Amino acid sequence: MFTLKEPQIEIGRPSHALVVGGSIAGLLAARVLLNHFDRVTIVERDRFPDEPVTRPGVPQGSQVHVILTQGQRILEQLFPGLTQELTAAGAPTVDWLADWKFFGIGGWAPRFRSGFIGYTTSRNFLELVLRRRLSQSERLQFIESTQVTGLLTNADCSRITGVKLRHRTETDTTTQDQSRELAADLVVDATGRNSRMPKWLTSLGYQPPQITVVNSFLGYASRWYECPKEFVADWQGITVMSQPPSISRGAVLYPVEGNRWVVTLGGVAQDAPPNDEAGFLEFARNLRSPIIYEAIKDAQPLSSVKSYRRTENRLCHYEQLDRLPEGLVVVGDAVCAFNPVYGQGITIAAMAALTLDECLQQQFQRQHGNLIGLTRRFQQRLAKLNATPWMMATGEDFRWSTTVGGKPQRINQIMQRYIDTVQQLMLKHPSIYRAFLEVVHMVKPPSMLFHPSIMARVLWLTINKRSISSEMTVSR
Ligand SMILES: Cc1cc2nc3c(=O)[nH]c(=O)nc-3n(C[C@H](O)[C@H](O)[C@H](O)COP(=O)(O)OP(=O)(O)OC[C@H]3O[C@@H](n4cnc5c(N)ncnc54)[C@H](O)[C@@H]3O)c2cc1C
Repeated sequence: MFTLKEPQIEIGRPSHALVVGGSIAGLLAARVLLNHFDRVTIVERDRFPDEPVTRPGVPQGSQVHVILTQGQRILEQLFPGLTQELTAAGAPTVDWLADWKFFGIGGWAPRFRSGFIGYTTSRNFLELVLRRRLSQSERLQFIESTQVTGLLTNADCSRITGVKLRHRTETDTTTQDQSRELAADLVVDATGRNSRMPKWLTSLGYQPPQITVVNSFLGYASRWYECPKEFVADWQGITVMSQPPSISRGAVLYPVEGNRWVVTLGGVAQDAPPNDEAGFLEFARNLRSPIIYEAIKDAQPLSSVKSYRRTENRLCHYEQLDRLPEGLVVVGDAVCAFNPVYGQGITIAAMAALTLDECLQQQFQRQHGNLIGLTRRFQQRLAKLNATPWMMATGEDFRWSTTVGGKPQRINQIMQRYIDTVQQLMLKHPSIYRAFLEVVHMVKPPSMLFHPSIMARVLWLTINKRSISSEMTVSR
């Protein structure tokens, strides 16, 4: 049973934290806020469903969500026993190297038992379980069907003191809106990509943050299937990558709880998959390998095809602002939303939650129980945390000449060539494949790929201009 450590809160210390947005970043922030505040409130515009279904505020819930191993480890740290709970409810356990077929730049990656284990679950189910866990705390309150419409401040607008709310009550015949205010010592914005914080800050006389957008115009389409009972395969999941600069299409077949597969097709450079049944299958058939098509062509669909197009990388530079009000932090996609193909969002939200926890701990030790300076310190640390995944995601997107929002720097181009060679090498060297996956799953830093043993092989291959891929038999 999950229990929260009861905090020793000093008298007179800020006691109420309010999180705007009850999706993954908001839930994870709320989890760590419980370590520091007497009361935590999550305000969410949607009504929370009792089942793991996609809700209007999180339309991406119908698309595949890979939870990277680093993210899984932090989730387990924040919610002990979560992995067991998810897997007991049917989330498959996978050895990422043995159970996954990965068709990368050079061909099929080797497969072997590695002990590099994770689970696969639907995003909607994960959110439901996290919400249920948090609702066990008597110090946490969910306010649903309620939209935050603005911020409350002290007289000179230097400190956020709460939020303005609009609560919606719907009956069969009427819809009624009620406005009210709610005071808080700390307000956390976790409202996702469409966060209105830049506008709210402007209305209080602050500069909005600069926003960097890098868009590879990736479109997703997903369909959910029942895993066929008679289906026999030596894999649990499959990834078929696109291949810049010319092959814009890729896909993933991802097993989730309930004996289901979610199949997500993606096309970069506005080559989005169609959302009709025949077009979806045809797109799958024309990937670099038809293996996913062959798996799903006779499988029983459980949903229609769901499309999603808002996939650009979007970074709000709160850390660069000269002035920010106290009593506010911004987390999750509201600060940095990534091209989802790299599966980073939830893991970064989890890492940010740990950072917030640390910042609050230091804050209350150093600042005698007040929150002065927290906003700036946290946003600066978050910016540092976001820098590497941002570079990884945008660096990959810049491989496509159609990507807008900047140009790859020379260093990026050199790195891309280096990573391409690593991807060729990993076809022959299981240890390099493992290192590559550990970096992708954020368990190891990218510098791991520059270990002398890997670098030496990359240099040797580059100098000899020998293509390993031509020696490989591309097998299905
Ligand atoms: C297509 C797609 C696929 C993805 N795939 C992956 C993946 O494979 N792996 C991964 O780790 N990440 C993935 N992500 C990213 C992941 O979904 C997010 O990073 C993650 O959900 C955290 O987002 P968030 O909580 O910051 O915001 P969101 O999930 O967008 O949630 C924002 C919440 O705020 C609420 N809200 C908004 N405005 C208000 C308001 N004014 N008042 C009250 N409530 C409000 C919304 O209703 C919603 O609940 C993907 C994203 C997309 C779009």
